[in-house]
Amino acid sequence: MKNNLANIKKAKMLLDSGYCIAIPTETVYGLAANAYSNTAVKKIYKLKKRPKNNPAIVHYSSLKQLKSDCDLNKNFYLLYKKLCPGPITFVLKLKKKSRISKFVNNKKNTLAVRFPKNNLSKKLLNLLDYPLAAPSANITKKISAVSADDVKDEFGKKIKFILDGGRSKIGLESTIINLIKTPQILRLGGTEISKINKILKTKLKFRKNKKKMISPGQSKVHYSPGIPIRLNAKSIKLNEAFIAIKKRKFSDKNFYYLSKNKNLKEAAKNLYKTMRIIKNKNYKSIAIEKIPNKGFGLAINDRLIRASKK
Ligand code: AMP
Ligand code: MG
Repeated sequence: MKNNLANIKKAKMLLDSGYCIAIPTETVYGLAANAYSNTAVKKIYKLKKRPKNNPAIVHYSSLKQLKSDCDLNKNFYLLYKKLCPGPITFVLKLKKKSRISKFVNNKKNTLAVRFPKNNLSKKLLNLLDYPLAAPSANITKKISAVSADDVKDEFGKKIKFILDGGRSKIGLESTIINLIKTPQILRLGGTEISKINKILKTKLKFRKNKKKMISPGQSKVHYSPGIPIRLNAKSIKLNEAFIAIKKRKFSDKNFYYLSKNKNLKEAAKNLYKTMRIIKNKNYKSIAIEKIPNKGFGLAINDRLIRASKK
């Protein structure tokens, strides 16, 4: 505990001085910097090699602070009350007088915002006078980091500080919902759409928007382990890592599983971790068993399809 407090203070000191650091969240680790500072936000983009036109999510711990940056509406309050803090990101209208750096959202008049659930990050945000811009702590297009070690694996010595909050509980990015007009799901993620539909009394579905890329997390190649992935695989080939949805009795060296008993939430949590382990064992390719396309399986399949694109 004492250690945590010292680390939170160190994180605050570095953020106050304009550095970007890694922070834990329940979805994945974030690469965070003062969202009101141009120079701090630019450091995130440089380190991640992220294109300027891919806006970052801004993390808040208080509604009061969010109100100074965005216009809040009825749908936002309904979802906020039931789901925050948690793995859901809202796209809202940015206020003209907001202090958000133009580098966060590429000068758009909208902003993606989130209330993360991890205790260390919540405590850190509470101590700060500004919200944190924090895209996922990985090099653009690569696999997201779900532990402090993963962040090290991505950035090595280039990262100034990692606030270690243990393994991310959800292990998959947040669900993104655009609330500016009629609600629209922009990215599948850690909050199931059925939950959102129940709260808003709607029947939203995720539709891939091919023409206009509103949310660059929708870009075709993403979440890539850097080696070919074979989807819907039925058998294990030599020298190929095989990922099953469910644990089996046999245990080949190259056999990995995402869940003990085909639990899709558990599988989502283990997906990036497993892909990173396989990547670091120098396998030349990955085969993955068919994942049921329901519940969290929808988000898993969305990531796998993009990870498998060249
Ligand atoms: P990451 O945190 O790396 O998973 O990426 C954040 C995601 O949020 C990306 O897919 C962004 O495109 C999306 N995003 C951020 N800001 C906006 C916005 N104003 N409108 C739509 N999508 C956004
Ligand atoms: Mg990302």
